[in-house]
Amino acid sequence: MIQYINEKVFTIDTGPNMFMGFDEGNSVILFDTGIDESVGRKIDKILGKPVSLIVNSHSHADHIGGNSYFQKRYNSKVFAEPGELSFLNNTELEPSLLNGGYWEFLLSDKFLKAKNSMVEPIDREILSQKGIEILDLSGHSPSLIGLKIDKIVYLGDALFSGDIIEKYRVLYLYDVGRFEKSLSTIEELNFEKAVICHKGLYDKEVIHDLIDINRKHTATIKSLILENSQGTTDYEITEAILNKLSIEPNLTIYMLILSTIRGYLSYLQKTGEVEMVFDKGVRWKRK
Ligand SMILES: [Zn+2]
Repeated sequence: MIQYINEKVFTIDTGPNMFMGFDEGNSVILFDTGIDESVGRKIDKILGKPVSLIVNSHSHADHIGGNSYFQKRYNSKVFAEPGELSFLNNTELEPSLLNGGYWEFLLSDKFLKAKNSMVEPIDREILSQKGIEILDLSGHSPSLIGLKIDKIVYLGDALFSGDIIEKYRVLYLYDVGRFEKSLSTIEELNFEKAVICHKGLYDKEVIHDLIDINRKHTATIKSLILENSQGTTDYEITEAILNKLSIEPNLTIYMLILSTIRGYLSYLQKTGEVEMVFDKGVRWKRK
C-alpha cells in the first residue's frame, strides 16, 4: 500500500514493515527495500515507476534484501553510510558479527543474510540538492541514519513501537549508549510526521511517547543484566534473562539477544556499573 504524506514524500506498507520514498516524477528514491527480492518485486508493483536511487538506513537484511531486485531491474544506484557499507557489499559479515566468527549455519537465515548489493558511500551533496538531510541515529546498528525532508523524518530502526517491544521483549542493539543518544537526537528534532520501520507513520507527540517507551525498555534490560551479573558469563546472563522474560528463542533470536546483552555489558562497564573479571574466561560482576 502506498500513501502520500505530501506531494513528493510517500510511505510503502509491505505488511511487516513500512518504508519511505521520494517521488521525483519519472522515478523515485526509495529508503530501504525489504527483506528479499520478493518484497522488492511487491514494492515495484506498488510504485509502478523506476527506482533511480536507494538509500539504506542500515545494513540489516530486512532493510536491504530488495536492493538486488532493483539493481537488476533498474540498475538503481544504492547509497549507504561508510560504517554500514561493507555489510551490504558482503552480507555474510552480519551473521559473522553476531557470532564473532564465520558460521556457515547462520548464513542460511534470510533474517540475517540478504543478497549482496553494489553500494556506494552516501553522496550528501546529491541528497542535499534534493532537499534530503541525513541524520546520525546510530546505536541499533553501527552507523544507522535517518532521513529528513521538510518536516517529515524517516527513522528506520532508531525507534520501535510498543507492540514490537512487547513482541520481542529484547530489542536488538549494537551500542546502547549511541542508541540512547539517538533517542535524544530524535527528541530534539523539528518535525511533524515520522516513519518507523516496525512500524508506522506517526505524529510528533506519538513519537515522543515512543521515545519514553524505548528508554524504559533499555532501563529494564539494564536492571535485569545487573541483577544477574554475579561473576557470571554473558551466556549465563542471557539465559537468565530469557527465563525471566519467558522468551523461547530460535537460534536467530538467541544470537541477536546474546549479541545485544554483550553490547549492554560493554555499556555498563563504561558507566562503571559492572566490572569484567577475566578468570579463565570472561565473567561479569555488578559493582
Ligand atoms: Zn535493523
